[in-house]
Amino acid sequence: MSSASLSTLASALLSGTVKVVDLTAPLGPETPVLYLPPQFGKNTPKVAVHTISAYDQDGPFWAWNWLELGEHTGTHFDAPCHWITGKDNENNTTDTIPPQNFVAPVNVIDRSKEAEADPDYLLTVESIQEWEAEHGEIEAGSWVLMRSDWYKRNGSTETFLNADENGPHSPGPTAEAIQYLLSKGIIGWGQETVGTDAGSAGGMNPPFPAHNLMHGAGKYGLASLSNLDQLPAKGAILIAAPLKLVKGTGSPVRALALITG
Ligand code: MN
Repeated sequence: MSSASLSTLASALLSGTVKVVDLTAPLGPETPVLYLPPQFGKNTPKVAVHTISAYDQDGPFWAWNWLELGEHTGTHFDAPCHWITGKDNENNTTDTIPPQNFVAPVNVIDRSKEAEADPDYLLTVESIQEWEAEHGEIEAGSWVLMRSDWYKRNGSTETFLNADENGPHSPGPTAEAIQYLLSKGIIGWGQETVGTDAGSAGGMNPPFPAHNLMHGAGKYGLASLSNLDQLPAKGAILIAAPLKLVKGTGSPVRALALITG
């Protein structure tokens, strides 16, 4: 690529013809976190912000805090080592993933109407193929995100997790859909719900396919994304870089998209 391409991008950023969309939910004590069924053991804690000083006797000229938060909290990145299927892959932790993989084209499959009509909505292979017929093929090396407008529930743990006595009800992909996307060579799968899988994914084969299959293949996940309704079906660039946590299984991210408009 010639340096002219980057110059063009630089001009477009400065003039505002390329815009930056924030795909990130606010991260704080109110951020909803996943609650696993009791048989699975421990859960991730809610975010806690501890004051070190706030221009006071503990630090007269400065304010700073220390944080208590899980790797998989809020808008976050799943590294392949997050799942047992990806534990032996190369470069499977947040500190070893090649940085080139943090910037990639993104496909956005809008299933907001379907998810509104049915919170247990599952994205199928046929549905992806219909999307491709309309918008073009999903290319190798790109991200695929499902828009559900679920992020609008992110202010409340109850509506975001949407659980009842039968478990959580939230949209996601079928195992076959993930297999299909992997056959296209995608780099990662993401959505707006608390995790990358549907609420009903524990009963799928394999259980939690967006985790099991994606991470087994050395690919990535993005959860609790926001504002996917501001992205085109194709043509945007996703920037999602986890903190370089040593041996990290995931990390909160400031996920951004570049769009023209
Ligand atoms: Mn996660």
